[in-house]
Amino acid sequence: MTQPVAPPPVVVDGRRVVPPDVERIDAALRFDLDTREAVAKATVHFTAGGQDGHPALDLRQPVEWLRLDGTSLDPSALPSRDLGAEPGAEMRVLDVSLEAGSPHRLEIGYRLEKPTAAGAEDIGWQDEGVRFDLWMSDLRPGRYLEMWVPAPLVHDRFALSLAVELLGKGRPHTLIANTGGVDAARGGKKWSLRYPAHFTSLSPMLILAPSDQIEVRRSAVVIPDRERSLGVVCARSTDIDVDLEACAADLRAWLVYLSSRYGPWTHGDTFWALLWAPERGMEYDGATTSSVKALEHEVFHSWFGRGVKPARAADGWIDEAWTTWATSTRSSDRLGRFETVELGLDEPPVELYPPSAWSRHTPLAAYTEGARLFAGLAALLGGPERLRAAMADWYRVNLGGFVTTNGLAAHLAAWSGIDIGPWWARYVHGRG
Ligand SMILES: [Zn+2]
Repeated sequence: MTQPVAPPPVVVDGRRVVPPDVERIDAALRFDLDTREAVAKATVHFTAGGQDGHPALDLRQPVEWLRLDGTSLDPSALPSRDLGAEPGAEMRVLDVSLEAGSPHRLEIGYRLEKPTAAGAEDIGWQDEGVRFDLWMSDLRPGRYLEMWVPAPLVHDRFALSLAVELLGKGRPHTLIANTGGVDAARGGKKWSLRYPAHFTSLSPMLILAPSDQIEVRRSAVVIPDRERSLGVVCARSTDIDVDLEACAADLRAWLVYLSSRYGPWTHGDTFWALLWAPERGMEYDGATTSSVKALEHEVFHSWFGRGVKPARAADGWIDEAWTTWATSTRSSDRLGRFETVELGLDEPPVELYPPSAWSRHTPLAAYTEGARLFAGLAALLGGPERLRAAMADWYRVNLGGFVTTNGLAAHLAAWSGIDIGPWWARYVHGRG
């Protein structure tokens, strides 16, 4: 199994910036329904990186106070800095240099408002209510947990606990999250959540809405390689008119099919889906928020993308390209599902893997040129069934772990005996 890959230290303005190893994050989010203001407080428990230096985390909210190991720092001591990756991929770098391998506790108090990241959603205040969704995305930097809670890059696993509270006069609310560890207080205004300790910043799903705006159906399905049945929570936002029973039936069928065809389910005891009006969908570990149309694509990601996870954000092209090729519908994608189209080494080069180790987005070309690459790989390997078998083996070898672009190239070459290096160079790394 591929080990997590932290980016190497980088020197910025004469300071060595080092990725820390985060063990635990405890955060409290409070929404005041009367004043329509939200505040948060988070404690990050971490070990300083492999070399002495300034730890880098991210948070896309305005910091109001800061404490390191119990000592107050000025709130400006955690500025956002350009680490040499694409615009928007800046990280917050602590002004204090820390000894390699030393344990620390960073406490951050902040207002909670619309995150400063491209495409982020604001908190949806209503009369006596609020709609809140982590609303993550792979496509822009800063669109994972760091929008709302301080978080490391995607290679870092940590235990996350969240206390969510509504203050003031309000209706009962429903919270949906992809963890069995939710304690809900009576009245629908206070929750405490513990996410699994193997989660990373792209794993947790959280949706909060007035209970009268969410309809929830629960069912269960027996899937291969699992003794107990798997719970299926299928919910809809009441602003869309969908047949929840039919969607849940599709979900159950896909869960059986994907575990039979590609390998075991790696998540907890439940799959969660929230169906919503926006055209987009987003995958989480064993969960999704999705339009009806994108639902199959998003369920597929619980195997590829969140069952095996990108070791770095730059490896995220793999799951979008492969998922698009394997679930495409003629109405929305250029290529058909499982299409096989020979790909010579004379087409325009494509860069799907952003070269900076601190890069934090999946290029949109993953959905088009990336899917085209998989159609070419199907031709190269002798047909779609052979490519699917190779990818199923790759999934099973890396089950529950991290995957890399180089690791996939090595796997496909070993599996097929074909040197796919030239295709990787031209259509993944963009070398002409
Ligand atoms: Zn996707």
